[in-house]
Parts: sequence; structure tokens; C-alpha cells
Amino acid sequence: MPDFLQLGIRKEINHTLKSLGLVTPTPIQEKTIPFILEGKDIIAQAQTGTGKTLAFVLPILEKININNPETQALILAPTRELALQITKEIKRVKENVDGLNVLAIFGGQDVEHQLKKLRGAQHIIVATPGRLLDHVRRRTIDLSTISMFVLDEADQMLLMGFLPDVDNIIGEMFSSRQTMLFSATIPKEIHSLSKKYMREPENIEIKEKQITVKKIKQFAVETTDRRKEGTLLHLLNEHRPYLAIIFCRTKARVQKLQETLKQNGFNSDELHGDIPQSKRQRAMRNFRDAKLQFLVATDVAARGLDVEGITHIYNYDVPQDVETYIHRIGRTGRASGEGEAYTLYAPRDVDFLQMIEKGINQSLEKIVIRGVSIPDRDDYDKERTENIAKARRAAAKRDAGKPAGGSKIRHKNEERKKYR
Ligand code: ADP
Ligand code: MG
Repeated sequence: MPDFLQLGIRKEINHTLKSLGLVTPTPIQEKTIPFILEGKDIIAQAQTGTGKTLAFVLPILEKININNPETQALILAPTRELALQITKEIKRVKENVDGLNVLAIFGGQDVEHQLKKLRGAQHIIVATPGRLLDHVRRRTIDLSTISMFVLDEADQMLLMGFLPDVDNIIGEMFSSRQTMLFSATIPKEIHSLSKKYMREPENIEIKEKQITVKKIKQFAVETTDRRKEGTLLHLLNEHRPYLAIIFCRTKARVQKLQETLKQNGFNSDELHGDIPQSKRQRAMRNFRDAKLQFLVATDVAARGLDVEGITHIYNYDVPQDVETYIHRIGRTGRASGEGEAYTLYAPRDVDFLQMIEKGINQSLEKIVIRGVSIPDRDDYDKERTENIAKARRAAAKRDAGKPAGGSKIRHKNEERKKYR
């Protein structure tokens, strides 16, 4: 296995990496760093937590000309948390690169402070799209000097409705720049984006199916089309997830199920292509803040969703291929690394189910619900309670300092209290 030095990273940086305990490049780093050093455009896909940040940060550091005071690299991230996280990572590894400056630009931050910093040389800017565009419009940032451009978490960026902003930002740069796109999933909009803005990009994909799905307890629940709604309601009542996503095959099925959930007093909202962007963003925000407990969604709408505290995934409809199955259930088990996924299937879905089991190389535990209760689930109850408590703590930590949650879920709180 090559080390960072062999990948083309200079020894001063390598030295810092070593002191931080970073010795062996991750697969995505190993594949992308040489291409980026060569100046190629790339589309890199690897799941969360695989070291994508350093995969672009290291070669960028390598290529920055310190003697040129112009901004040479721009990294776009969908949220301020992520922009800060990337900036921190750069600061961590640039210790032995003398004179290199990096600046984070994001909304909610003191503009005066940003302007003052912008008067000095900033070799790298890490930004969220909105605030960056403000600066571009005021001409306080000039993007024409950018030679390296990174779109991080591209899928999330699209999902959050940043495409028009990204479009405008790219329009401010010269086409001779190098463009790098990093994402956990590559929805088809990203391919259109890449056709428009990239030059013969190298596609790099690291698959780690087993690792994702192993941490997640997976069940297959036998039902019939007619009994499906009832079965799901029964499961939801039984499990009391902290946060859950319910996947349906089509928009129409999402709408119908959302109606049913609402009628039955569940705190849920829908997410699919026909929902206007602003409403979609609001639903996402409420879900992230745990003001919303259930999200009923189509695959496209829920792609890339990275929310802490999702304890349960329900496949109301069996996914039609293995990739989709992995993407869906991968929404859970994020922070704690644990989660549960339930796939509802009718007798005619058995072929698909077997295909999935073959694809993930493990079999799903079968559950049959007759009457009202799932037999003998005592073993899981303890663990489930612990999981939920864990997720709850993570969310509480994340929410610290934010105003208290909405009133909608209060009627559920009594029931949920015992999991806190
Ligand atoms: P991603 O963007 O793919 O979700 P990150 O870039 O945030 O992942 O990296 C996840 C964690 O892995 C970070 O804490 C990072 O410091 C660490 N990491 C990155 N590269 C390596 C490496 N080569 N060896 C060990 N840890 C690494
Ligand atoms: Mg990342």
C-alpha cells in the first residue's frame, strides 16, 4: 500500500500527517490524489467517513503557490458546519506549509470580520454558496483567479436547493479551472452538472457495501398489499423510533401513505419531487431538529440525507435493486453506528428480496406479524431502548443552545419519555 509520500505529497506535509497519526491513505485518497495532482477533473464517490476531505485538501495544499497572493482554491460546502469542519482539517495539516492562508466564508458570520480578512491574501476559501455569492455581488471576492474548485457533498448541495447558486458561482470562474466533485452518492442531476462544467472527468467510486450494512439490524416483514398500511402502523407503534424514514416507490404512494399517517396522529411529513423546494427544505430542517419524527420519501428525495438520530428505516415498498436498498438503509446508523431497517414485502416481492440478500451477502431476519403483536422481541427491546437513548443524547448535544422543539410532537412525548 502506498503512503502519502508515494502518492506525491511532499515530505513537510507528510511529516505533519504522521504526527497526526495519518499514515495510510484511505482508498478514496489513494485513487484521487494522483489525478488531482495531475490537474484532472474528477468525480469522486465514497461513503461518509472515508476521508474525502483530505483527498482534495492534500493535493490542493501541494499545488498552491504561496508566493501568489491571489485566491487559488475554492471549496464549496452545503452547510456552515461542514465549511468549518473542512477549514479546521486544512489548518490541522498545513502546519508545515509556511505562509498559507485559508478563510471560511459562511452566513451568520460577522461580515466586517470577513471583509477584513479578505483584504489579506487568502490562498484557499471554504464557503457556503449563499454568503459567497453575496461577496461576489459586492465585488469583495473575485473568483476569476480560482484554478481549483471543489464541490463537496454535491448530493446534499442539490438536495438543499443550491443548484442555481452553484451555477452562478461557477459562472464567475474561468473554464480553465480544475473541477472536483465529491459526494457520497451520485444522483443523475450530478451527471448533468458534470457534463456542463467538467472536462473529461475521471470517475472514481469506492464501494464498501458490507461495511455500511453490517452495523444495521435488518428485518424482512411479510405482509400483503392489503395489510401493508396496517402492518406499518403496527411497527411504528411498536418501535417508537426517535427519527425514521419510510421509503415508497412512487410520489403517489408517498402522498397516500402520508395521508394515512397524518390521520392516525403520526408526526410526519412527505419528501418527493413534486414538493416545492422551500417546503422540502423546511421538512428537512424540522426533521434534522427532531421536530418531525417521520419522513415519508421517494428515493431521489432522500438521497444523501445525513441526519443524526435516525434509528429506523422502513422500506414500505421493496427497493428494485441492491444499490437502492443500501442507500436507503445507510441513512440510519450514522453517529452510533447502529440502526434498524425493516423491509415490508408481499409474496410477489420474494424474488426482489432474494436478490437483495444475495447482493448484500447476508440474509434478512424474517418477521411475520399475525394479529397485533410481534412475537418474542424481548431481546431487541433492551438494545433498542439503548440505541434510542444514545441517539437522543446525540441530538440533545447537537441541539444545545437552540430553542426548544415544536409543539406538534408533544402528544407523543409522553410515550417517548421512557426512551430518554
Ligand atoms: P468524509 O468526507 O468522506 O465523510 P472525512 O474527510 O470527514 O470523511 O474523514 C473522516 C475522518 O477520517 C476524519 O476524522 C479524518 O481526520 C479521518 N481520516 C481521513 N483520512 C485518514 C487517513 N488516511 N487515516 C486515518 N484517518 C483519516
Ligand atoms: Mg465529507
